[in-house]
Amino acid sequence: MNASNVIGILGAIPQEINGIINSLTSVKETVISNRSYYEGFLGEQKVVVVYSRIGKVAAAATVATLLLKFDVCKVVFIGVAGGIGTDVCVGDVVVAKDLIQYDMDASPLRPKFEVPLIGKSYFNSDQELSIAIMDRIKAILSPDNLNELIDSDDLKKFKIKAPKVLFGTIASGDQFVSTNEQRSRLLAELPNALCVEMEGAAVAQVCFEFGIPCVVIRTISDNANHEASFSFQSFVEEVSIVYGREILKTIIELM
Ligand code: SAH
Repeated sequence: MNASNVIGILGAIPQEINGIINSLTSVKETVISNRSYYEGFLGEQKVVVVYSRIGKVAAAATVATLLLKFDVCKVVFIGVAGGIGTDVCVGDVVVAKDLIQYDMDASPLRPKFEVPLIGKSYFNSDQELSIAIMDRIKAILSPDNLNELIDSDDLKKFKIKAPKVLFGTIASGDQFVSTNEQRSRLLAELPNALCVEMEGAAVAQVCFEFGIPCVVIRTISDNANHEASFSFQSFVEEVSIVYGREILKTIIELM
């Protein structure tokens, strides 16, 4: 049993966690191996916030340092992702039920996707906490609240009207998925995946190995197709900072 009550917060996109770093009180910055870890308080809750950088290796190294040096008892990862599931739209939020590394392949020695020696392909998030968090995110995304938080031109531009909060599988790999071919290949192999990103399953594996519960929250910034790079860039600059800040502020009370 871990006696600490410190929560670790990681994000792959600086825009998203900058909002939360700016809201911390009594902040102390520690630099370790190219990352700045910000210890501080969100209300009464002690947290450590860090920008993981992009990709599975960067995220795994960052979360391992966070767990070893800062004694955190739970991990939240927040970021954006490309939607690939049916009816997963830009502006929706996916809360991970489980996560898989779609580029892990030691076949024919092991089944495709299985992480050797661990013998697992899917890593679970903390189910109870993830489900509880969904209700809070739904409230943030209610149309009235969203209109207060985000410029109406941006909501129109991304066709965000009634965003959904979904619970399901997240697929992670070291690729920005931005062609219809990549997207179709991925969906054919993992038809249950709701979205694709580059860090979550690595964080979930490290947390599993340390025995620490984790939650992964992804806002859909693009549809992992030929329009992805344009949609991703402007979504990150214009919308995701607000999503990130509001979601983290709200869910921290539940943790
Ligand atoms: N802006 C960065 C690159 C970002 S890569 C640069 O210029 O270096 C995309 C980031 O958003 C990753 O953190 C990934 O987890 C997430 N993401 C969003 N859409 C994605 C997609 N379609 N495919 C893969 N990752 C995606």
